[in-house]
Amino acid sequence: MRPVFVNIGERTNVTGSAKFKKLIVEGNFSEALSVARQQVEAGAQVIDVNMDEGLLDSEQAMITFLNLMAAEPDIARVPVMIDSSKWEVIEAGLKCVQGKAIVNSISMKEGEAKFIEQAKLCLRYGAAVVVMAFDEVGQADTAARKIEICEKAYGILVDKVGFPPEDIIFDPNIFAVATGIEEHDNYAVDFIEGTREIKKRCPYARISGGVSNVSFSFRGNEPVRRAIHSVFLYHAINAGMDMGIVNAGDLPVYDTLDPVLREAVEDVILNRPQRDPVQTNTERLVDMAPRYKGEKGAAQQVNLAWREGTVGERITHALVNGVTEFIEADTEEARLAAERPLHVIEGPLMDGMNVVGDLFGAGKMFLPQVVKSARVMKQAVAWLMPFMEAEKEGQVRKAAGKVLMATVKGDVHDIGKNIVGVVLQCNNYEVIDLGVMVPADRILEEAKKHEVDMIGLSGLITPSLDEMVFVAAEMERQGFDIPLLIGGATTSRTHTAVKIEPAYRRGPTTYVVDASRAVGVVSGLLSEGERDRIIGETRAEYVKVREQYARGQTVKARTPIGEARKRKFAIDWKGYAPPKPVFTGTRTFEPSLAELEPFIDWSPFFASWELIGRYPQILEDDVVGEAATDLYRDARVMLEKVIAEKWFGAKGVIGFWPAQAVEDDVVLYSDETRTVEIARLHTLRQQMDKGKGEGKANLALADFVAPVGGPADYVGGFAVTAGHGEDEIVKRFKDAGDDYSAIMASALADRLAEAFAEWLHHKARVELWGYAPEEGFDADALIGEKYVGIRPAPGYPAQPDHTEKGTLFRLLEAEAATGMLLTESFAMSPGAAVSGLYFSHPQSHYFGVGKIDFDQVEDYALRKGWDLATTERWLSPILNYDPLARARGEAA
Ligand code: SAH
Repeated sequence: MRPVFVNIGERTNVTGSAKFKKLIVEGNFSEALSVARQQVEAGAQVIDVNMDEGLLDSEQAMITFLNLMAAEPDIARVPVMIDSSKWEVIEAGLKCVQGKAIVNSISMKEGEAKFIEQAKLCLRYGAAVVVMAFDEVGQADTAARKIEICEKAYGILVDKVGFPPEDIIFDPNIFAVATGIEEHDNYAVDFIEGTREIKKRCPYARISGGVSNVSFSFRGNEPVRRAIHSVFLYHAINAGMDMGIVNAGDLPVYDTLDPVLREAVEDVILNRPQRDPVQTNTERLVDMAPRYKGEKGAAQQVNLAWREGTVGERITHALVNGVTEFIEADTEEARLAAERPLHVIEGPLMDGMNVVGDLFGAGKMFLPQVVKSARVMKQAVAWLMPFMEAEKEGQVRKAAGKVLMATVKGDVHDIGKNIVGVVLQCNNYEVIDLGVMVPADRILEEAKKHEVDMIGLSGLITPSLDEMVFVAAEMERQGFDIPLLIGGATTSRTHTAVKIEPAYRRGPTTYVVDASRAVGVVSGLLSEGERDRIIGETRAEYVKVREQYARGQTVKARTPIGEARKRKFAIDWKGYAPPKPVFTGTRTFEPSLAELEPFIDWSPFFASWELIGRYPQILEDDVVGEAATDLYRDARVMLEKVIAEKWFGAKGVIGFWPAQAVEDDVVLYSDETRTVEIARLHTLRQQMDKGKGEGKANLALADFVAPVGGPADYVGGFAVTAGHGEDEIVKRFKDAGDDYSAIMASALADRLAEAFAEWLHHKARVELWGYAPEEGFDADALIGEKYVGIRPAPGYPAQPDHTEKGTLFRLLEAEAATGMLLTESFAMSPGAAVSGLYFSHPQSHYFGVGKIDFDQVEDYALRKGWDLATTERWLSPILNYDPLARARGEAA
């Protein structure tokens, strides 16, 4: 497990920051406070305050500043590190800090007596202390000296002073490496190894350090310095470093560093044997460093040539590149030059967005970049809002059209819908987003109220398809004639043509395959000149789709269910002893997000942003590589925060039960006597014609469980979420106009939920069911599902009936255990959730049930205790016939 690292903000230090020093010397404390606030916002979890400056009354400055900080709730929520080499300043600070402070620092440099005296005072104030590895001989440089001094100080503090060991923070001194002086080459290793040993010998004590020292010899080359910090921290944290003075907002993620640079840095930090025949590690890094000076990560700081352009050019650049840094200043400049604030939107901002639109349309920009552009746009508009409101008249901005969007009743997923909404907004459409789980009557009411030009429906799970048909029928009934757009993971052109369009004849219905098509479709449908032609073409196309579909229907002969059962997947149960789980019943788990992180499968993350390709190759892709790399970097940066600040709560439950198959059902029993049935899982069987021959079985999941009369078998189940807290986080970003981060947060929550499912399945195999105790951890093997057993999810192809989640949730008591709910369509809420069954048999595998015939539907209805109409409704996506025709008495 990766431990959590505490960042200590360093900018409120007069010796380290010229800007801060100037503010304090001038007595501009309000600006100085904003430096502290920025630190907290950038992720600092402790703030180091230092007023050691010759020109200052340091004691007074410390008192004033700390008192002002205490009055700012958003700053005062993090602890203060009172930093001074003068004891009077420290004590003055201790007297005004509320809550627990940290003293930085004390040491034995002036002998033991002084050390003890100061430690006692700190103890009296209840403060934690940073203890420098420093004694009368000097500062500790080698690992041995660091260990020796810290261990000695620890003994004195704990035994003589009675200091709580958890309040001791050692700073074993970080010194610069790659200085060209050979004696310095091992300094980082000395710190790392010293840390590892001090943590062992001094239980509960913490390790800290000033990180920027280590890269001192690369002053002036910030990208390389940041890379050094990142690599150093990676190893130091793994050795036990708990906290450090570091610019948190400015640290690249270890995994995203350029691999060539990372290796060279790592050689230096770890003082590895020289790789190059002639150059030392230091020389090699010094040699390559200039190449990275202007590199990507630093592009914004370094290459500011675009700032020389006209204000319009600058705004366009900011929009295309998603740079928010200067947009307010540039917008203000444009506003001052314009007659009215509205003209800034209609002029330079729309011009810039048109460039974005053109690049996107030409395949030269990708969704994540467009969503970032939207963030810049929103920030600019937010800047102009107060000025527009101040103008009495004519503040309305003419939108190109109004689109209402909603995820239908029973469904919770909305990443795709949110992306479409942002893209439309970028193109000057007004979007009214009703969110998720929106019933038809509300959608139509709001559509009337806002006089929208169009309605867009979204859905993730198959029951939403029927709900969309219902909304369409309601639009018809209520006399709507505006266009209806259909999109989302579960929808398709065929379903739209076959089921939705026929329900809504008064207006046009269009399937939108992905967010990149949304603008084209919407603008076409709203354009006076083109509308009729487009609608006509779509209608004609859907007629063809229906014909094609009808043809497909008649030729697909099905095997009668009785016949299919005879052709089941026949496992030889004789001589097979199914593994026995270590417990039956349920157990709950709340792993930390840090534990789940290594189990993340990144490929679907890119897909959620419509970047298609496998990770990590996608990062090098000729077309989307750059967009993917930027997106990935942003994702890693946010993920670090998600983990460190625990944005999401992960809760899961697992269960195992004695089980035997009975035809296509699986019966679960209360205990090993296998007499009391507690639940029955229903599975569906393939009915396609498999032809003759071996290995051509008509599968049902029940085939993977030993039948009654066979050996004692078991089935497992699980439900996990990493989505607690997601909604609040997403709302916070949206309210701040930052859709990019909002969508990113949702996408990461989804990834963590899937990772949780992977984590728990792994745990089941190696430990809880324990049938694969030797299985190692290999993320690629996990993602490739190269393990024994499966975890099919209800609603997926092997069991397309979502209602089976109801049984699973009841068995797991999932609601009480995890706080997860099922909607009326059996979607899980929070949306970042996964549930499914576990099968252990080595021959169990995923498959798709495919289309089924009326004979199985009738049988399934009996088993579920449903009437036929209900059964057909839940199974509608897989029916091999038209249920309406059947109801009318036509041949099934
Ligand atoms: N690593 C991917 C996995 C998602 S899809 C990710 O992080 O997004 C894989 C999961 O979907 C499986 O673990 C299983 O729970 C479910 N699944 C896949 N194919 C299935 C099928 N044919 N029937 C039932 N469930 C299936």
